[in-house]
Amino acid sequence: MFVSLLTYTPEAERVVATAARLCYADVDCRALAERSNPEDDRQMIDKVLAIGHHGVLEHAVFSFAAEGISRALTHQLVRHRLASFAQQSQRYVAFDGGFAYETPPTIKADSELASRYHEEMQRIAELYTDLRQSGIAAEDARFILPNASHSRLIMTMNARELRHFFRLRCCRRAQWEIRKLATAILVEVLKVAPALFQDAGPGCLKGTCPEGAMSCGEAVEVRREFAEIYRIPTAES
Ligand SMILES: Cc1cc2nc3c(=O)[nH]c(=O)nc-3n(C[C@H](O)[C@H](O)[C@H](O)COP(=O)(O)OP(=O)(O)OC[C@H]3O[C@@H](n4cnc5c(N)ncnc54)[C@H](O)[C@@H]3O)c2cc1C
Repeated sequence: MFVSLLTYTPEAERVVATAARLCYADVDCRALAERSNPEDDRQMIDKVLAIGHHGVLEHAVFSFAAEGISRALTHQLVRHRLASFAQQSQRYVAFDGGFAYETPPTIKADSELASRYHEEMQRIAELYTDLRQSGIAAEDARFILPNASHSRLIMTMNARELRHFFRLRCCRRAQWEIRKLATAILVEVLKVAPALFQDAGPGCLKGTCPEGAMSCGEAVEVRREFAEIYRIPTAES
């Protein structure tokens, strides 16, 4: 898996804090923006997060590239309707030289099962090639490609949606690969907008696990894990 933050709203925290101030001030927008400073912005963002005035978080937008992720993951990712996506096509891109794929750690850990898994992938690649060589278009040959096939995409989310995404997908109830992706994305945004994401993460960080009876029961370990993540250095430090 490779994840990188491609671009994001310049001065994201200043924009969000200014948008929040605007709601309560009888001052023109430019003057408000000019008055902004990092300390006041941080305090305003703390307030916004505390009172749940989360609409202003939508003014900060972040775009990521992700590669070497399975179609099983991307199928879950694109369920997040407030995000924007561009994903490599299996119609316009043919995998005539073979296809890359993900191997779950549980399968990797069992050498016999892993070897059968890789053999099966090899067989699929051979059939894919046979189909293509028989004149079948990539859009039909792809029907035999597995969930494990690697994909790449660019995704854009605003800070409000990202915080929602982290709540659902950094949770230990989320599937391991999307959890790994969500956690890697959280690490990236914490470097550039630490105030906006200061308390982002699974629901159990701030109280009882929202999963109820389906809880993983590991809230203590989860809190410890995220305490380490929040300690990562920021871009300014
Ligand atoms: C652990 C886990 C297990 C899951 N298992 C399954 C499963 O078995 N089957 C399955 O189908 N899905 C499953 N999902 C996916 C899940 O149901 C959601 O589709 C996915 O997490 C996207 O969440 P969302 O709809 O809250 O977020 P987004 O689409 O990112 O939307 C964010 C928020 O915007 C609001 N919103 C967005 N669109 C609308 C709308 N049209 N109307 C009203 N409000 C809207 C909602 O408040 C929503 O929470 C699972 C997700 C998780 C985390």
